[in-house]
Amino acid sequence: MADLVNTFSWSFSAAEDFDLCRRKRFWAKYAMWGGWSPEATPLQKDAYRLGKMDNAWSVLGRAVEDAVMWALRRHQAGVSVTVDEAYEHGARPHLIRAWTESRKKLFLQNPKKHICLREHYYQDWPPGRENEIMEAVKAQARTCISHFMETVLPRLAKVSPVQEIRVAVIGSGGDPESFDFNGMKIYAIPDYVYREGDRLHIHDWKAGKAKESHAAQLKLYGLWAQVKHGFNPGQVDIFIEYLAEGTVRQLALTESDLDSIKTRIADSVTEMADYLVDGDIARNRPLPQEDWDLTLDYRCCRLCNFLELCRKDPDYHPDTA
Ligand code: SF4
Repeated sequence: MADLVNTFSWSFSAAEDFDLCRRKRFWAKYAMWGGWSPEATPLQKDAYRLGKMDNAWSVLGRAVEDAVMWALRRHQAGVSVTVDEAYEHGARPHLIRAWTESRKKLFLQNPKKHICLREHYYQDWPPGRENEIMEAVKAQARTCISHFMETVLPRLAKVSPVQEIRVAVIGSGGDPESFDFNGMKIYAIPDYVYREGDRLHIHDWKAGKAKESHAAQLKLYGLWAQVKHGFNPGQVDIFIEYLAEGTVRQLALTESDLDSIKTRIADSVTEMADYLVDGDIARNRPLPQEDWDLTLDYRCCRLCNFLELCRKDPDYHPDTA
């Protein structure tokens, strides 16, 4: 098999991380590269392993996605299902797997295969509170599924699988969904997409709270729809489904929205290129670790997977911030 190449790529979440902390991008994109190999250095292996970590709320999001897609597939097959059934078949297996694997620390042998919760790894949960948090996650999963069945499923009731557009998701084996923009790989992974006549409907499931940044993230999917599937912005309907609250935010797209997204990508890529040798994104070789600044806002570190690595850096002084 040919050697894998670490090509330059951009995504909304990578840009948010880069804005928050340059060093985080270094760990997540460059230091980790090759960390899956038995011949990798200890730093490569550590960065790769830490980059794979989940947390209780990302596990909740994945469990809810599994459950709503399970319920939708059953519905399309003409079988009606209850919230309890969707939870048991769709969400519960992922939640149980995450907690079990994480508690047993199986990821230490194989971080790609096994889930590690950041809260376990960094012992974030006060003694005795873990079960309470697990119950809260389970309850929120049920609430999200219930809202999906009541408010979203009826709107998708007539969509057939032939209308759907396949989206490569994380964890499905290959590279996640992306498109080429000005020679760069841009990751964009909408949750559920289908055609209706000459229109494209894009739905994204959110199991957490509404955030203003979601609108920009979803508008990136409009660019994906145009570049990869030839839909003009006026033909695209975007639905942010806030399943915890049972509300939906619908976005209309314009050419000007796509222009703003293109500007956001261009500005972000220019800043990222400053941290590469000769600013060359084609070669994509990072400057040395010390050139990637640590965050100025140490509050971000509390939720960062890479805290273990930064704590070893003599320049890391959160106590003096
Ligand atoms: S622990 Fe803090 S300084 Fe280190 S990568 Fe994370 S956010 Fe940046």
